[in-house]
Amino acid sequence: MQHLTHSPEETRAVARNWAASLESGTVIQLIGDLGAGKTTFVQGLAEGLGCETAPTSPTFALLHEYPGKKGVLYHWDLYRLSPTTDWTQLDLPGHLPGDGITVVEWPERYPGPWPARIHTVNLSIHGETGREIEILNP
Ligand code: ADP
Ligand code: MG
Repeated sequence: MQHLTHSPEETRAVARNWAASLESGTVIQLIGDLGAGKTTFVQGLAEGLGCETAPTSPTFALLHEYPGKKGVLYHWDLYRLSPTTDWTQLDLPGHLPGDGITVVEWPERYPGPWPARIHTVNLSIHGETGREIEILNP
């Protein structure tokens, strides 16, 4: 499904509405350039999942956890990692799929394996406030 949004709030609304259909154990990859709206999209997911804290861009932490109605929203941001990272030292494989909803920014940084059933969201920038959001379901 494709959406064109014109503000961060519209992007949050797309994610918020989609969150209603997500089941515990879901894994979501968010693909898009810096500033495309990935973290904004996660904020909408958190709203839709009844999380009390609004997600922010993790600075040093790779993982933020936001308890919600369908279990924990696990928010990974792998931006600072390289393909040579020793993944056995991280929790990520144990979260795929996790007991809640797992969402991953910069999934390209993680070589896998990913679960067979995964959602991909592509975000692209169209001018200052235009964002195209494509939700691909498995
Ligand atoms: P990313 O996590 O992909 O790097 P962020 O969500 O952190 O992106 O930042 C998106 C930036 O783009 C924010 O500064 C936000 O205010 C701005 N923005 C402008 N228009 C939109 C839109 N339609 N949807 C989402 N963000 C938007
Ligand atoms: Mg981000």
